[in-house]
Order: sequence, then C-alpha cells, then structure tokens
Amino acid sequence: MPDRELTVFHLYADTLNLYGDFGNVQALRRRCEWRGIGCRVENVGIGHAADFRDCDLLFVGGGQDRAQSLVADDLVKHGEVIRERVEDGMVALAVCGGFQLLGRSFLTSEGVTLPGIGVFAADTVAGTGRLIGDVVVDCGATPHEWLRDGGDATLVGFENHSGHTRLDPGLEPLGRVVCGYGNEGAGSFEGAVYRHCIGTYLHGSLLPKNPWLADRLIATALEQRFGTGAPFPPLDDRLERLAHERAVAHCRA
Ligand code: GLN
Repeated sequence: MPDRELTVFHLYADTLNLYGDFGNVQALRRRCEWRGIGCRVENVGIGHAADFRDCDLLFVGGGQDRAQSLVADDLVKHGEVIRERVEDGMVALAVCGGFQLLGRSFLTSEGVTLPGIGVFAADTVAGTGRLIGDVVVDCGATPHEWLRDGGDATLVGFENHSGHTRLDPGLEPLGRVVCGYGNEGAGSFEGAVYRHCIGTYLHGSLLPKNPWLADRLIATALEQRFGTGAPFPPLDDRLERLAHERAVAHCRA
C-alpha cells in the first residue's frame, strides 16, 4: 500500500475524449505508480454526484461541439465547487473542448452559446474554418513559478478546433506558439493558466509527449495534499524525450 495517494477526477471520460486525451490520465497514473505513489482515478460522468473536496487533480478532455453540449449543463452544476477548489489550489488540466467549457462561454458555429464555468476569464467563439495541425509551444516565459521546470519549457501536441479563445487582460496564456495556431488562430498565444489550473488546445496525448508537464502537475498536487519536501524521484524519460524532440523537429521543418 503506497503511503501517499492522489485522487484524479476524470470528468466526462466517455463523452469528452478526442485524439487520445485519455492518455493524459494514463500518464498521470503510471508516472505516480513508477514512483510508488498511489493514483486513484474516479470517473465523473453526467449526473454523477462527486465530492470535489476529494479531488487532487481534475482532468477534462476535448470533444465535438455536440459532445460539449451534452455535458455543459451538468458541468455548470459543479461550477461553484470547482471554482472554490481551484481557488484553494486544486490542480486541473483541461484540453480543447474542456478548456472552452472551463472558460465563460463557447459560441458554436451553429450560433448556440454553451455556458462555461468561468474558471478562466475567457470566451470562445467559433471561427469559419478549423484550426488543425501539430503545435509547438514555448512556455519559457511563464510567470507561474509552479510551472517552471528548470529545464524543459516546450510543449508539443496536436490541435483541431473551430473555437477562437480570447483571454481577458491579466489572464496568462500557457505559452507562446512556435508553430501552429493556438488560442486565436493567429499563432501568438496558446492556452491559459489560472492558479494551478491549465487550459490548452493541445491533444496528443499531451502528457505522454511532455513528461515535464505531467510531473509539474503531479508534484504540485502532492504539495497541495501532503505539503512540500516529499521525495519525487526523476524517471527514465529517454523515450518520451525522443518522441518530444522528434515532434519539435517535424513541426519546425
Ligand atoms: N468543439 C470544439 C471546437 O471545435 C472543441 C474541439 C476539440 O475539443 N478538439 O472548437
């Protein structure tokens, strides 16, 4: 029995799961287990009662507009408690459709406004075309201390969205787009960071290809639950690094 265990809430795993988003949860679980840290994953589906006080790390993936419309009202019911937990320091990762729903609103190409829960001070509006392709993001300038890795600062992933997400002034992006489109299609900024909560358009799966980010999420969740100073040994990430570097080289070519 591990002496430390994290609880990951996977929101709407059956409904929001595009381009391997589920792999993010697998990466979190395995990277905990490889270090002797327990990782319990609770699937929170539509209509499930869930006590977010138990949640150390919240994950929500992406989906088609229709899938988002199926979950949006249910998510709004959890909105207040999720916002409170984010203020407390809970760690969260939301990808694409999940990122949009953690913002304030998403106006779809059909003219329907889906409500978000306002963790991020941001709104999304569908554009006329889809933004599709590989992405490289430079997170090196982040002012968020907890995200700094001391080494790696690049993220690789894949995006496919119609939504253009505009962040309010003061809300920090996750990073600057090196290649790809990002939040607004113009290729300037990607994602958002609020407290320990990350929103991003990067599918991929994101965390297996960017193990440094997986570790920042896990280490921060451990600190929030158990305090600082706990052992967090490095892992052998040679294969993951190769995949990452190849994606960077391919995108820049
Ligand atoms: N339906 C949303 C959009 O097209 C999100 C897509 C996604 O999660 N890949 O913008």
